[in-house]
Amino acid sequence: MDRIVLLKMSGEAVADIEGESIVSAERLDYFTAQIAIARKAEPDLKVAVMVGGGNIIRGKMLPGVNRTKADHMGMLATIINALALQDAMTRAGLDSRVMSGMEAPMVAESYIYGRAMRHLAKNRVIIFAGGLGSPFFTTDTAAALRATEIGAQVLLLAKFGTDGVYSKDPRRFADAVKFETIDYDSVMSQNLQVMDATAVALCRDNSMPIFVFDVSAENAVSEALLGRTDAGTLICFSTADGQVLGNDQPMRE
Ligand code: UDP
Repeated sequence: MDRIVLLKMSGEAVADIEGESIVSAERLDYFTAQIAIARKAEPDLKVAVMVGGGNIIRGKMLPGVNRTKADHMGMLATIINALALQDAMTRAGLDSRVMSGMEAPMVAESYIYGRAMRHLAKNRVIIFAGGLGSPFFTTDTAAALRATEIGAQVLLLAKFGTDGVYSKDPRRFADAVKFETIDYDSVMSQNLQVMDATAVALCRDNSMPIFVFDVSAENAVSEALLGRTDAGTLICFSTADGQVLGNDQPMRE
């Protein structure tokens, strides 16, 4: 059976930290190559990506700008990143479509569920942009919703320099403990900083497993796409015998 996965990449994942540019061609090429490797290993794998925009603008970090307007700016930033990622995919010969939650018809298709499923069926990588198209949300929440809608088996949360969910900030506390698996309510009640609470709650309400992993390790992204690694933390419901309960929406066009 076809397997769908949704990879959430923050804006930081494509940021050119040391250089002058807002996006790093190297990082975009890396993610693209990783997706290509996974698709080669599992030809029926359907991949969707949700890109953030934090490397350019985060609405709540623009003091003095009306929050709704600032969030619109943030959503536009995600479209910029999505176009850069699509360009990298085009160069690598990977067929992709940008689908935006915010209308931007000159550069991206609008998100329509049936059309998205058709792209996946045709083995196109979907790059989701524009978040949900509404302010006061984040691309984490948009990723949780789209993953649920398209029937993804798992939501992969790519992190830089953090290889999972810890009991406290591992950069500040030497006694921080890493979880191999953890349930949604524990993430929320312990206020663990993984993704925003709305996103975690949406995943919980729809039994969408979230795999948090560090992209720095070699082939980390392709291994995560292929479900071949446990070097991270799985946020999920599990049965007493350790079976992960997942989102079992069948793939439909
Ligand atoms: N945003 C929004 N609604 C959405 C998704 C995103 O208003 O549904 C805005 C918000 O300002 C957010 C910015 O877009 O801060 C960039 O997205 P995000 O912060 O999630 O990017 P990331 O942290 O993943 O790079």
